[in-house]
Amino acid sequence: MIIQLKDINKTYFNGAPLHVLKGIDLEIEQGEMVSIMGASGSGKSTLLNILGILDTYDTGVYKLAGQFIQDLSESRAAELRNRLIGFIFQSFNLISFKNAVENVALPLYYQGIKRKKRNAIAMDYLDMVGLANWAEHMPNELSGGQKQRVAIARALIARPQVILADEPTGALDSVTTVEVMELLRHVNQEGMTMIIVTHEQSVADATDKIIRLKDGVIERIETVPQYV
Ligand code: ADP
Ligand code: MG
Repeated sequence: MIIQLKDINKTYFNGAPLHVLKGIDLEIEQGEMVSIMGASGSGKSTLLNILGILDTYDTGVYKLAGQFIQDLSESRAAELRNRLIGFIFQSFNLISFKNAVENVALPLYYQGIKRKKRNAIAMDYLDMVGLANWAEHMPNELSGGQKQRVAIARALIARPQVILADEPTGALDSVTTVEVMELLRHVNQEGMTMIIVTHEQSVADATDKIIRLKDGVIERIETVPQYV
């Protein structure tokens, strides 16, 4: 079990208290590819941010890759985050003044790996996502799909245990969405655990399991039929 949540609760206290997650129980096995669906405001991003150690919870138990995630210092949280988790966002979050290969290499910069070595490794990851010929291009010279491929390569380069993606296809057209989901499936087949928040049924149907959130509660979990 790579991820285990037991009775996780989260309330926001800016203004009137808002009980956003109400007793979330969830277990995800290593190598699973799951999606989280639910109406806007149902708590999807809050749940993903807790899973990614970007936000804290109030009560419950969270175990990630054998470690209890609770009462961590900011530096310890950052260390676990950098080692265990890769993030993919709807808006790509590339650095606009760095080219593709430099964007992919960024997590290795934070690990103190020297420029030549990190760019060589980043080139391998760019090649894997089909963008070896675009290494020197700046983000504003890339299409949405290409930008998300760069972001996927960047998420993978530190060899995390889990990829967390919040609406990774939300800014892409339907053809590019299929291509990005095929790439994520390819990455998953290499053994990567993947959790994808989406409001698109076609994206959820490309995962193995759909977790349906409603008003901060897991309403049900559906297994997606596989047609191979
Ligand atoms: P979703 O991603 O499913 O749309 P969120 O997890 O982003 O839902 O938000 C759930 C609820 O919590 C929403 O009502 C949202 O307005 C509220 N919320 C999210 N983040 C904060 C915050 N930092 N402070 C206060 N309320 C928040
Ligand atoms: Mg959200």
